[in-house]
Amino acid sequence: MSDLSRPAGPKIIAVANQKGGVGKTTTAINLAAALVELRLRVLVVDLDPQGNASTGLGIENDERSFTTYELLVDDAPLEEVIQETEIEGLSIIAATVDLSSADIELISNEKRSFLLHDALRQTAMDAYRWDYILIDCPPSLNLLTVNAMVAAHSVLVPLQSEFFALEGLSQLMLTIREVRQTANPDLRIEGVVLTMFDRRNNLSQQVEQDARDNLGDLVFETVIPRNVRVSEAPSFALPVLSYDPASQGARAYRSLAREVVDKHKQAAA
Ligand code: ADP
Ligand code: MG
Repeated sequence: MSDLSRPAGPKIIAVANQKGGVGKTTTAINLAAALVELRLRVLVVDLDPQGNASTGLGIENDERSFTTYELLVDDAPLEEVIQETEIEGLSIIAATVDLSSADIELISNEKRSFLLHDALRQTAMDAYRWDYILIDCPPSLNLLTVNAMVAAHSVLVPLQSEFFALEGLSQLMLTIREVRQTANPDLRIEGVVLTMFDRRNNLSQQVEQDARDNLGDLVFETVIPRNVRVSEAPSFALPVLSYDPASQGARAYRSLAREVVDKHKQAAA
């Protein structure tokens, strides 16, 4: 039973899809920025050795001495790895290419699937008072993604509006089921969000229809349009919400944030 006098603690959401280039990082960055606009406190955990979320949020390479690698492999303390971004209320644990060897380095570690869980769900986290923690997963269903799913309350799946988009989902759902059976029985699906959507393109419409027919309420009402401002923003090390606040992309991510927050309000009621 939940104790209402206690703050519920942060909602931990893994942004995952084993396909690359579907909008995971873009969604992690911009959903985070949109939640911050709603005056929520957000931590982004960059779990991709490519470090795109770190770059997109303005963390330079020479500022990445303490990262998710040190957190997971070297058991570094939280205060060493959490960094502030330029955006007030938005913090990050950055990543570097070092993380690409974590799989192999952790192979003999019995707790290898629970390392991120143990890091993010420790009482020392309470002091930070995060409302949301968004984990940007790598494009595979490897040990890092499993760590994210074991640590998370829910998985948010960006789905690119293109042919075969739904095919990859069954693999992802299998992994979610496995994680539920072995390590995290309460893991929910936060929702599926259609990304890079083009209203004039029949294929986009078809993918949306298929997704809604097959997945029903799991699909967010908000769809993220293909919008050049969204793709330009990372080269300015900014979320699109700061880079071009009135753009279609920024508006869509604000709408997605409201949906996420509303879902959690309903769940708490
Ligand atoms: P992933 O993290 O899943 O690999 P990214 O978020 O990095 O995917 O997105 C892949 C590419 O598509 C990036 O170049 C990104 O800028 C671009 N992109 C993502 N979402 C949009 C969008 N809504 N409109 C235009 N370009 C986008
Ligand atoms: Mg990415």
